[in-house]
Amino acid sequence: MIFLFGPPGVGKGTQADLLVERYNLKKFSMGDILREEVAMGSLTGKKVEEYMKNGILAPDDIVFEIVEDFVIENLNDRILFDGFPRNLNQAIELEKILARHNRKITLAIELQLTKEELIKRILGRLYCPKCSAVYNEVTNPPKNPNICDECGTYLEKRKDDNLEVINNRLKVYEELTRPLCDYYKSLGVLVGIDASGDKEDVYKRIAQVLDGYIK
Ligand code: AMP
Repeated sequence: MIFLFGPPGVGKGTQADLLVERYNLKKFSMGDILREEVAMGSLTGKKVEEYMKNGILAPDDIVFEIVEDFVIENLNDRILFDGFPRNLNQAIELEKILARHNRKITLAIELQLTKEELIKRILGRLYCPKCSAVYNEVTNPPKNPNICDECGTYLEKRKDDNLEVINNRLKVYEELTRPLCDYYKSLGVLVGIDASGDKEDVYKRIAQVLDGYIK
């Protein structure tokens, strides 16, 4: 099982989509699942909406249930975890959930980029509310302005992609998620990847690592 992480705006979602397609992985994106729950107006969506609006992590017990259901449904696949775990408690719980099904994280990839570049990328981000594809007005525009290449839906800006919330999300990353580097380093599975350049450059760097990992 592979864990892909990095600060908001680093291009995690874009890379996760490329990796899933080219390495035949199953993607687990907590952010996408929670956005769908909010859009559906489900009970879970109602519980997490306020946290997401403010760029704060949703409560652990809510996300644990979602992740274990997904693991059970995809026991025969190699899963790429995107956006989960986001803090040490979640990382430890994920190991427990995976251990219950004889699995574990064997590769944790951190995408790395400067804060200035992250903010630039987030402010240009466009998102498909239907299929969750991610674009960037500057670095990765859709073929037709504001229209999703994959499903033709009108693209939107994410509600949490504004300067005030971005700063909050970056702070949450530094305080809660970055310490996961030490955790995965101690398990001997951490790899850091430079996320500068266009999406194919970054993809090639990740692929070099994955090619050695997936036979
Ligand atoms: P993302 O799409 O990964 O940037 O996530 C968007 C928002 O969803 C975050 O700011 C959190 O509010 C929520 N979220 C995503 N992943 C998690 C997680 N593992 N634990 C708690 N909240 C999460």
